[in-house]
Amino acid sequence: MTSNSLSEDAGIAMRLRDVRERMAVAAARAGRAPESISLLAVSKTFGSEAVRAAYGAGQRAFGENYVQEALGKIAQLADLTDIEWHFIGRIQANKTRQIATHFHWVHGLVDFDHARRLSEQRPAGWPPLQVCIQVNLSGEDSKAGVAPREVGDLIAACATLQGLRVRGLMALPAALEGEAAQRVPFRALRALRDRLAMPGLPLECLSMGMSADLEAAILEGATLVRIGTAIFGGRSYNPSRGG
Ligand SMILES: *Cc1c(COP(=O)(O)O)cnc(C)c1O
Repeated sequence: MTSNSLSEDAGIAMRLRDVRERMAVAAARAGRAPESISLLAVSKTFGSEAVRAAYGAGQRAFGENYVQEALGKIAQLADLTDIEWHFIGRIQANKTRQIATHFHWVHGLVDFDHARRLSEQRPAGWPPLQVCIQVNLSGEDSKAGVAPREVGDLIAACATLQGLRVRGLMALPAALEGEAAQRVPFRALRALRDRLAMPGLPLECLSMGMSADLEAAILEGATLVRIGTAIFGGRSYNPSRGG
C-alpha cells in the first residue's frame, strides 16, 4: 500500500482545519450552531491514503461517486470501522446491490426503481440506508435530479419501503459567481423541503454546498456540505464513468 508523505498528510489536515473554520464562520453569520452542519469529505479520485490522512485529522464521513473506485478504498480502509461512507454519484441499476451493502448514505436518489432495488438489497437487520432525494432545480449543471413538483410523490413512495429512510433533499446547482447568486438555488431547495416536511418525515437533511459555495449553502440552511477540492486539492483526472 502506498502512503502519503508527511507533508501531504499535513496539507490535508491543514485544509480540513481551514474548511471547518469556514463552516464555523458561516454558521456564526447565519446564527446557527456549528454542530448543526456536518462535513462530508468528498474523496473521489483520491486514494485510500488521502482518506486515511483525513481520518487521522478527525474526519469520519466520506463521499464517493464511483462504485468500483469506492469499493477498493472501502476494502483498504476496513480497519477504520467508524468511517461513514456516502454514495454521492449517479446511481446505476446494476450497481444498487453494491451500494446497498457498502454504504451508509445515498445522496442523489432520483428513481423509484432504484429505491426499490436498494430496499430489497439492503441486508436484513442492518440499519436502514439513509437517503436524500436529488432535486433538479432550474439551471442545474448535471441534468440529474427529480423535478420539484415530483419530489413529494417519490418521497411518499419511498416511505413505504423497508431498509431505507428518506432523510432529506440534495442539490448540485450549476456553479455561480458571488454569494448572492449562489444562495438562490439553495434557498429554493430549503423552501421545497419546508413545503414537503410533515410529522414523522421532517426531511431534516439539506445536502447542499461544495468547496466554492459552502458559505452560501450554510446561510440558506445546509445541514451537510460536500467538500472535495478544498480538502484534498484539485482533481487531476476523471476516473472511468463505468462506476
Ligand atoms: C465532486 C462532488 C462534490 C465536491 O465538489 P468540490 O467542488 O470538489 O468540493 C460534491 N458533491 C458532489 C455530488 C460531487 O460529485
